[in-house]
Amino acid sequence: MAVLARLLLLLCSPSWGLSAAAGKVDITPDLPRHTVYLAGFGARGRKPEGVHDRLFARLLVLKDGPRTVALVSLDLLGFSRNDVEDLRSLAGFAGPDRYLFAAATHVHSGPDTLGLWGPLPGVSGVDAAWLAELKMDVAAALRKLEGQAQEARLTGWRGTLDPKGLCRDLRDPAVLDPGLAALSVKAPGGKAIATVVNWSCHPETLGRSNLLITADFPGSLCAKVEDDTGGACLFLNGAIGGLLSPDLAAGQDPWRESARIGATVAGAALQGLALSRPFPEPKLEFRNLLVRVPVENSRYLLFLPALRPGHRLYDKAGAPLPRWKVYGLVYQHALRLLQPPEKPWVETEVSVVDAGPARLVGLPGEAFPELVLGGYDGSLRFGQPLLKPENPDPPDLAHAPTGPYLKELVRRPVPMVVGMANDELGYLVPEYDFKVRENLTMTPRLPGDHYEETNSVGPAATRIILDAAQYLLSRKK
Ligand SMILES: [Zn+2]
Repeated sequence: MAVLARLLLLLCSPSWGLSAAAGKVDITPDLPRHTVYLAGFGARGRKPEGVHDRLFARLLVLKDGPRTVALVSLDLLGFSRNDVEDLRSLAGFAGPDRYLFAAATHVHSGPDTLGLWGPLPGVSGVDAAWLAELKMDVAAALRKLEGQAQEARLTGWRGTLDPKGLCRDLRDPAVLDPGLAALSVKAPGGKAIATVVNWSCHPETLGRSNLLITADFPGSLCAKVEDDTGGACLFLNGAIGGLLSPDLAAGQDPWRESARIGATVAGAALQGLALSRPFPEPKLEFRNLLVRVPVENSRYLLFLPALRPGHRLYDKAGAPLPRWKVYGLVYQHALRLLQPPEKPWVETEVSVVDAGPARLVGLPGEAFPELVLGGYDGSLRFGQPLLKPENPDPPDLAHAPTGPYLKELVRRPVPMVVGMANDELGYLVPEYDFKVRENLTMTPRLPGDHYEETNSVGPAATRIILDAAQYLLSRKK
């Protein structure tokens, strides 16, 4: 009788195995009902003239017993922390066992979400109605997916892809990330639920003159993965600062180049996954850390009101900065540059998610690949000169940070460093090469490669964010 009771108990116990569901939501603005401006390439008021291909939020919900993690990949340049918080709240992601990880692909032909690319510098290009609808639609889809989760098996693959012809590094030192990683989520019968692909390059194939909305190469990448597998595809961009930009064939149509790059990366990821074996440990875990970083960049201080809708701002003592104080700081800064003790701080988030063989490290910006990989010895230059001979002010590599570098610390079979994750604060520049002219707009720029500093919250943020990531990776959980 006792044996029968035990057997019954066993049969009635909930299964604590992993389950998953995936899907996608069309987030393309409805033109002309929505008034959007294209993000990226400086504030020039790029109003889209039409849609070349649709933008999506791609969603993967993973459940393991009481724990639920949602991964969201958005065809956007960035998605600010307050928007991530809104999405979490709308989709019911709160509490110790629930986490939503949202990353932007960083596409440069999608709507402004950060308030930086309106008709004039300093004027937001965000269509508030479109952004609100996006969050409502994605939250509704996530809630629906939670009820559809089915038993799932995870396999992963980590490999390399020669960047030549796909991606190049525009800033010295030449350090490219050849890493390509993929996670496959399938039902026990082999039907694909989702494929997650992590690769590193700026989705800016179409360039600044393009006026059509497109998801750029992440769109063609995911289209191929979804066509080939039948499941959803989530593209998670990596450490793309420093600056990793598409390596386009001369004279070719940029639309064809965008399709070629996406299809090549997708093909390599699927080929790699075909070799993968089920991972014995279907664990699902997460940990995150809120950190505050000082806003040091003069331009960010001048355009501080643009940072405010997406972020919580604080003074040095840790008191929240109300709207009127933010405008007061801008006024003070314009009169006489703010000194370090007067500069505000911004809250952001760093996170780690374990899903079977994969470990995602979410960084809230565009980290330089050398911060993640090293490569200061020229081992990751892939045919480019480590330092361009014509660079008038090359970085002093003797002062470059020494290892171990972030990716070495990930210590899972399929490491994925994910940029623009749960926030977008701009470039995370290595401190040893952070050089700016100390004036209101940081112009004219110093000679050499120093564009990224002008779109970075400041040098201190790099160390604070990397330290937080290292701390999370060192924690056992
Ligand atoms: Zn960028």
